[in-house]
Amino acid sequence: MDNWLNVKVPGLPPLPVEPRLGGRALPRAVSLYVCGITPYDATHLGHAQTYLTFDYVVRLVRASGRTLRYVQNVTDVDDPLLERATEIGVDWRDLAREEIALYFADMEALRVVPPDHYVGAVESIPLVVDAVTRLLAVGAAYPVRTPETPGGAGAGDVYGSVAADALFWEELPIPARDALGVFAERGGDPARPGKRAALDPLLWRAERAAEPAWDGGPLGAGRPGWHIECAAIAEHWLGGVPTITGGGSDLSFPHHHMSASHLRQLGHPEPGMTMHVGMVGLDGHKMSKSLGNLVLVSRLRAAGADPRAIRLALAAHHYAAEWEWDDGQLVAAQRRLGHWLAAARIAGSSPRIPGGTPGSSAAGGLATLVATALAADLDTPAALDAVDRWADAVLARPEGDPGTVDPSAVDAVDALLGIDLRADPPAPDTRLANQVLSLPRR
Ligand SMILES: [Zn+2]
Repeated sequence: MDNWLNVKVPGLPPLPVEPRLGGRALPRAVSLYVCGITPYDATHLGHAQTYLTFDYVVRLVRASGRTLRYVQNVTDVDDPLLERATEIGVDWRDLAREEIALYFADMEALRVVPPDHYVGAVESIPLVVDAVTRLLAVGAAYPVRTPETPGGAGAGDVYGSVAADALFWEELPIPARDALGVFAERGGDPARPGKRAALDPLLWRAERAAEPAWDGGPLGAGRPGWHIECAAIAEHWLGGVPTITGGGSDLSFPHHHMSASHLRQLGHPEPGMTMHVGMVGLDGHKMSKSLGNLVLVSRLRAAGADPRAIRLALAAHHYAAEWEWDDGQLVAAQRRLGHWLAAARIAGSSPRIPGGTPGSSAAGGLATLVATALAADLDTPAALDAVDRWADAVLARPEGDPGTVDPSAVDAVDALLGIDLRADPPAPDTRLANQVLSLPRR
């Protein structure tokens, strides 16, 4: 499907860093799979923190001289989308189209580098049908008939069998005693009659009245389950288990665990790593659609916030941390941005003498300092500190001192942190404000 607009990333000299993420060194060739949105509501700051986290991964991996293949999906058909569309009385396809467009606008404003392939669930249905058919063939899946699925060409719903995966319990990322409760909380259906085990996940949902369905070949008409969607997309576009599978920490279980289990059953035993981004809270609660306590990126932008300041406010927190948003953080980020912009203006008007670097060691250079911080499990707060020190040093120069300037500093901030210090702040987008306000809300 369509992707959002590419971002121009300045080239940097090869940086001498060996990134370690989540305690693991990265190989020379990295594949990245990031679980994308279900397009039924606008991008809030929790989403932004997730997609910005993997934007830093993308920028770091490429700057370290590694190759990267990057896929992100969009779950453009699933229960939450259909439920929301019914609730607000719009066609689910229109809701998905509108929310995907708003997501793209947010990603473009934040200068997030797009994935190589942005892949939808609907367009991936043949991949899912193929994967589910293979799981049935090896005994890792089974049909469950229901009164609503009288059969016909297909066999009803299809469920994955957790008992067929020898590593399912060993690899479980949460205590086994919590698994059932978390599964039920996060879209699972432990009480569904006919399942062999309560944790068995849905792979294929047979057609129901008033629900969209697609030709599933041997499975009959229906639509994909969520975990198999990501497994099938990763298998097709990245050749199996991604080097890094990423998403919010609420995807750890069941979503990423189930997808990894499906991939093992599909013949991909290779190990991968997951990176999970901490939840962003507001007023003592996780920011979530169900609680309605959302700070939307598009609303901040419509109100005139500089997207660079939004980036800085979020990057001030380590990706794995759980933290609380308050508006004061945006004010502080705007102040920090102003400090950097003032330094960049001086840097832009100073002679560019390679090797001279106020505020950083000659061996360093700002690019290396920032990349070194990011290479240490994506320590974005330390990366921001490094730029602060560079800006302090530039601004502390006596007036009239032409000084010397790290020729790559502004490029480094742009390439590694996605902040263009050469650009003017964007004007508030009134068209966007109207668009945001016209979206139906609860
Ligand atoms: Zn996913």
